[in-house]
Amino acid sequence: MASPLILYGSLVDSISLTHLRYLSNALICINQHGIIDWLVPNVPSSSVASVLSEKGLKGTQVTQLKKGQFLSPGFIDTHTHAPQHPNLGTGGQYQLLDWLENVTFPREARFKDVDYSRKVYERVVKRTLDLGTTTSCYYGSLHLESTKVLADVVHAGGQRGFVGKCNMDSNCPSTYIEPSPSASIADTVSLISHIRSLPASSPTSTPLVQPIITPRFAISCSAPLLQGLGDLVRSEKEAGTEVAVQTHLGENHGEIAFTKEIFAGANERGGMKNGWDGSYAGVYESFGLLGERTILAHCVHLEETELQTIKRTNSGISHCPTSNLNLRSGCAKVGEMLERGIKVGLGTDCSGGYESGILSQIRSASTTSKLISMASPSSAPSSPETPPPEAATSTPRYSTLPQLPLPTLFHLATLGGASLCGLDKVVGNFEVGKEFDALLVDLGEERGNGALWFDEEEGGEEGWLEGGFEQWIWTGDDRNIAKVWVQGRLVGGKDL
Ligand SMILES: [Zn+2]
Repeated sequence: MASPLILYGSLVDSISLTHLRYLSNALICINQHGIIDWLVPNVPSSSVASVLSEKGLKGTQVTQLKKGQFLSPGFIDTHTHAPQHPNLGTGGQYQLLDWLENVTFPREARFKDVDYSRKVYERVVKRTLDLGTTTSCYYGSLHLESTKVLADVVHAGGQRGFVGKCNMDSNCPSTYIEPSPSASIADTVSLISHIRSLPASSPTSTPLVQPIITPRFAISCSAPLLQGLGDLVRSEKEAGTEVAVQTHLGENHGEIAFTKEIFAGANERGGMKNGWDGSYAGVYESFGLLGERTILAHCVHLEETELQTIKRTNSGISHCPTSNLNLRSGCAKVGEMLERGIKVGLGTDCSGGYESGILSQIRSASTTSKLISMASPSSAPSSPETPPPEAATSTPRYSTLPQLPLPTLFHLATLGGASLCGLDKVVGNFEVGKEFDALLVDLGEERGNGALWFDEEEGGEEGWLEGGFEQWIWTGDDRNIAKVWVQGRLVGGKDL
């Protein structure tokens, strides 16, 4: 039997929307299945050997973290498009619908070529792992074979992921469209069974790669296609093999108006059997696509009824702040969503967003929240920057805060994202019994990130952690991510 992985040092994780946990001198044990077996905080170095002895692990090798190093839970990217990574940093002059036509669809059409797909996907998985993304919700292209390759590459790379092929049979260029609803659904079923056939790392661990049904957005799907996908979701649920769903919602005014126009017509023709409330979110609900495993990206412009629909169906929202700013879509009101108890995570939305890591999304989410409060200064005081005292027992009134506080931002990036994916009992923080998806962060100057001014002389042996963590969030990058583990297995980072 393989030895457990024992780490000794500092860690930071999210306990709730309002609370970060900072632990020093923590001794953490990860078993051979990648599960956190136990965690003992505040162990003096003179007591490490005796704690190991008590745990029956006398003499087991311990990896000691030094000052300036700490463990963080891995990041969760709840919305990205794997085939669009080669477009990163291009097309920022467009808004959504023109950007799709001029930048996105021509690129994705190239993924008909399986060899090209493999080459791109291997680089995407490596790059995002090195940026600390331990779980990613991927949109593939519309192609079945290439999306199978994406699932294979994610699996082989050791990343945790949800992989879906785009469903799109309407309002797309003739060179990049599926021939019929039935063909689209058949390919989706085939992808689901391919992903479920990938071997698990161990009998006790959660499958690393899971399928996700991916109607690109309502505009690109006919009513019969959405109906077929909704039927698939229902039949999977009835079979006890619930499958996740991801799509876009309320990103851009032109998109919303076009969606309503299309589905008003479908509704008149009797194409929406379960009734429709006239909203964009209502389109998905009428076809049975909203539920607790549904991830809705963007949600920049939501009507009151849509917020209620999302809350009622317990769907979650992927906040994609860099993309929303880059394509001038707008500022999603995350504080209001959180106040209502809606699940929210962060998404890069590559390549609507030009950065493929989640650290930068934390910063953009902060900027977005500041823009919202600056646009309505009367409702937001200039301080405090931390949640008010009642936050200890309840959700803070985010709409009265001048910005989203750091504990909330980090929650979105980790535990909040895990909830969106239905993985909050599996990953998201260092609770005992969860799988070890983690980063070893190193603030040291020798890492080569000149933007991060961490002073080893300050803060004593323990007092540096809180300030160092904050510095990493705002000025860190992949050079500071030394190691990346998924399910206890070392899969990325600068030291790999
Ligand atoms: Zn997207």
